[in-house]
Amino acid sequence: MLFTIVKDKSGKVTKIKTKLDATSILDNPILNKGSAFTQKERDTFSLNGKLPVQVENMSLQLMRVYRQFKEKENNIQRNVFLNTLHDGNTTLFYKFASEHIDEVLPVVYTPTVGDAVEAYSAEFRRPAGVYLSYDQQKDMDKILASHAKEKQIDFVIVTDGEAVLGIGDWGVGGMDISIGKLMVYIICAGINPANVLPVQLDVGTNNEKLLNDPLYLGSKHPRVTGKNYDDFIKSFVTSVKKHFPNVYLHWEDFGRSHARSILERYRNDLCTFNDDMQGTGIVATANVISAIEATKTKYKDHVVVMFGAGTAGCGIMDQIFDAFVASGMSKSEAKKRFYIIDRFGLVVDDMKDLPDFQKPYARKRSEVKKWDVANQDDISLLEVVKNAKATILIGCSTVKGAFNKAIVTQMAKNIARPVIMPLSNPNSRCEADPKDLIEWTDAKAIIAAGSPFPEVHYKGKVYEVSQGNNAFIFPGLGLGAIAVKATKMSDSMIRAACHTLSAFSPLRKSLDNPVLPPIHDAVTISTAVAIAVAKEAIKEGLSSVKAKESDAEALVKKAQWRPEYVPLTKG
Ligand code: NAD
Repeated sequence: MLFTIVKDKSGKVTKIKTKLDATSILDNPILNKGSAFTQKERDTFSLNGKLPVQVENMSLQLMRVYRQFKEKENNIQRNVFLNTLHDGNTTLFYKFASEHIDEVLPVVYTPTVGDAVEAYSAEFRRPAGVYLSYDQQKDMDKILASHAKEKQIDFVIVTDGEAVLGIGDWGVGGMDISIGKLMVYIICAGINPANVLPVQLDVGTNNEKLLNDPLYLGSKHPRVTGKNYDDFIKSFVTSVKKHFPNVYLHWEDFGRSHARSILERYRNDLCTFNDDMQGTGIVATANVISAIEATKTKYKDHVVVMFGAGTAGCGIMDQIFDAFVASGMSKSEAKKRFYIIDRFGLVVDDMKDLPDFQKPYARKRSEVKKWDVANQDDISLLEVVKNAKATILIGCSTVKGAFNKAIVTQMAKNIARPVIMPLSNPNSRCEADPKDLIEWTDAKAIIAAGSPFPEVHYKGKVYEVSQGNNAFIFPGLGLGAIAVKATKMSDSMIRAACHTLSAFSPLRKSLDNPVLPPIHDAVTISTAVAIAVAKEAIKEGLSSVKAKESDAEALVKKAQWRPEYVPLTKG
């Protein structure tokens, strides 16, 4: 181990012991404090002369960081600046991020992270995390073993960069998504950065631009597929389980043909989670629950339409469906209320080659035969909204402007308060501009978008636009699971997270309020979500820690890390 973290009984870190020399300490972002090393630490580790003589406290350092942050001209420059700070002094970075969460999240995560991913090879400065290449897979176990030797790993986040946000295959650039997401886990929930590992599985890329770019840093061949890919993933999971027992494994931005099958294959083997499929679904479902309860309608009053039935779209539908059934509706009754639309219009059961995950929502041809539509082989979104009398419309298609005026005004005719969630990222691919949604529905629409949008001024009122940000959910889910060393992530742990988020909805106080709280509340919400998830894990017997449900809060608080400098001592 490079260092040992010493904690008291409550879990508070009291000091860090290390045998490293001055240069290695300054190079280690977890140990480095820059100008804030005390004189005693400077004497102990021979740091004198390697730093300017002033001993600063963290407040002074934060003042300097904020000034430098503000001097940057755009978000990509701010992203590079914050990543450099993160790679040099982790504690200072997280303190800064937790004090300026509204400004920092959009820079380290969506929407800026999309630009950072695209610029990964061009902007590359230093490696971060672990790169596991298919071409060097014989070394995979050895590489992970060496990390296990260096530090205790509780949390692994992994991507293969095939389906990054809405921008597609960015190969090894996907590493920036893992890093950005990890930052959100740490900022919002207080996962300990000393115990995490971001991983990039490099299986090639099908992005021609990258393959032809002399600066591209990943493997320059098309993506490995089929059995070779599956075997590679299997070796990875086996090694992870071997070297990091009790680990929480987060899958990020895998392509739609892999995301679901990987989760289904491994979800009973270890505690694992796919944010694109599950995280987005939890937030969207929480919004649906909040809207139904706040508008005092019933589940049976609603019809849900998903436009873009891929990984996120069908993942969301699965969870909303689960909520309809949990409300007391039979599965067959619930099924009648769900419609999905993809490239060839409404998904109908006689369509050829439907992916397995779309089949449960395919409508019977006999049923839609009676509809008034222009072309039975390509039933449009407007035709579905009209004929099915949709009340809840969600977009995960990456088709900009797909929710046009005719569709949105039809939603407002179908129900007094339609729920409309254009979730595609980045904003340039979003199905609707929230400003239009407010104007076209006379401010009746209950809205959540995928990325941040400015507030809307309409008829003398100001409407905040909720961002269906997974940051409300995944950090707390992870922390709750880690706190009890959960053996798996069950459906009821996910349900507990969903209901906890919904309880925080400002819509419950007034229908003019946004459906989600402001993003800076993500810290409070993450702790509440973590406690609910830990409690549920204990209740279901999925906790590896011997505990009662009433212990959940203390376990979560004990697992939480806070960005404060602690004394560094020899040992
Ligand atoms: P995906 O590629 O798996 O799914 C997109 C689906 O849209 C595909 O099934 C595709 O066939 C369909 N589609 C494309 N063009 C269409 C058209 N003209 N009409 C109808 N359907 C069409 O991608 P994904 O991972 O599901 O992500 C989709 C979008 O959702 C992305 O923009 C992503 O950023 C966004 N997303 C948002 C959040 C969030 O808001 N928190 C979370 C996850 C994903």
